[in-house]
Amino acid sequence: MVDDPVSDERDLRAAMLRGLKGRCPACGESRLFRSFLRPVNHCPACGQSWAHQRADDLPAYLVVLVLGHVLVPLVVAANLRLDMPMWVQMTLWPGLALVIAMLMIQPAKGLVIGLQWARRMHGFSGGR
Ligand SMILES: [Zn+2]
Repeated sequence: MVDDPVSDERDLRAAMLRGLKGRCPACGESRLFRSFLRPVNHCPACGQSWAHQRADDLPAYLVVLVLGHVLVPLVVAANLRLDMPMWVQMTLWPGLALVIAMLMIQPAKGLVIGLQWARRMHGFSGGR
């Protein structure tokens, strides 16, 4: 469902969920990214321009924030219960952090773009 371009209301929750899934926050019909972290210029389904998005560092900050709160307790718990050699830990934790960060960064960017669009931030203040 395309949000009414005349109405001031944009569904924040729907826009952020669509962005999180890598779909157009405005309509959800088409993909949001043309490459890993580069959004499409315009949605082919609804015509919404994504050139205005300015997610900047917020997606990376969110990934670090969530990842730190998940990984640090895991490292502590593993060290309390297991006797892992140092080389295993030096390989496991940074590798796990990298994999999780790579999995989270695109959904986080989509979420932030959905937030910016729904709240008419930066270049999204116009009708479309
Ligand atoms: Zn769209």
